[in-house]
Amino acid sequence: MIFLKTEDEIELMREANLLVGSTLAELAGRIQPGVTTAQLDKIAEEFIRDHGAIPTFKGFPNPYGSPFPASICASVNDEVVHGIPNDTPLQDGDIVSIDCGTLLNGYNGDSCYTFCVGEVTEEVRQLLKVTKESLYLGIEAALTGKRIGDIGYAVQSHCEGYGLGVVREFVGHGIGKEMHEDPQVPNFGRRGNGVQIKNGLCIAIEPMITLGQPQIYMMPDRWTIKTRDGKAAAHFEHTIAIHHGKADILSSFEEIEKLERK
Ligand code: MG
Ligand code: MG
Repeated sequence: MIFLKTEDEIELMREANLLVGSTLAELAGRIQPGVTTAQLDKIAEEFIRDHGAIPTFKGFPNPYGSPFPASICASVNDEVVHGIPNDTPLQDGDIVSIDCGTLLNGYNGDSCYTFCVGEVTEEVRQLLKVTKESLYLGIEAALTGKRIGDIGYAVQSHCEGYGLGVVREFVGHGIGKEMHEDPQVPNFGRRGNGVQIKNGLCIAIEPMITLGQPQIYMMPDRWTIKTRDGKAAAHFEHTIAIHHGKADILSSFEEIEKLERK
């Protein structure tokens, strides 16, 4: 069942999503060689709670095992999604995808950004650039009257055009009072296929893109997902609302990108 949101609900969702954006920016300023993802998790949890919100990921149920133990997912290099923060220091040349969710005033925010730690290789830099571009192409395709498949097509065709892999097993999703609502929003698809996009639809679009093959596997912790070929993966995510016929981006990378330009 798809819950279309009212204007008031969209504004509440914007608040939750802007808080995710500020949380990610708070971490962005601290990501450097030597820092651990457990340290980043602690900062994120305090920041979210200090702003009167709940970190939605903490305690999130797992159909395969124990609930998620942290407030962010931190996925390093060949980890695609759902990495559990740990005490391994980040190293120069790593990338780390930080996915974060907040519940504020009853509505959810969800956004992810892949950061460089120090200097990364040119091919990894390109992976991040193309993945982020594909997110915005997906967002541009989210127009009233179009279909969910148009979003997936935009993401997939852009990434595959650069020889990158599109992960199939994990997808974007509707979002609102629940972090995961209908419909599913795959990063692959055919134009004109799937659920029709309407005003009030709120979805998270989140390309998970690999430098090599798109195949993945789950680690014994029952959370962390890695690429089978061991090559790097990137993950960028925005929550959007379809508003007046087109996508209104509720989350924000603005503060992060400001720091990256410094
Ligand atoms: Mg997310
Ligand atoms: Mg999501």
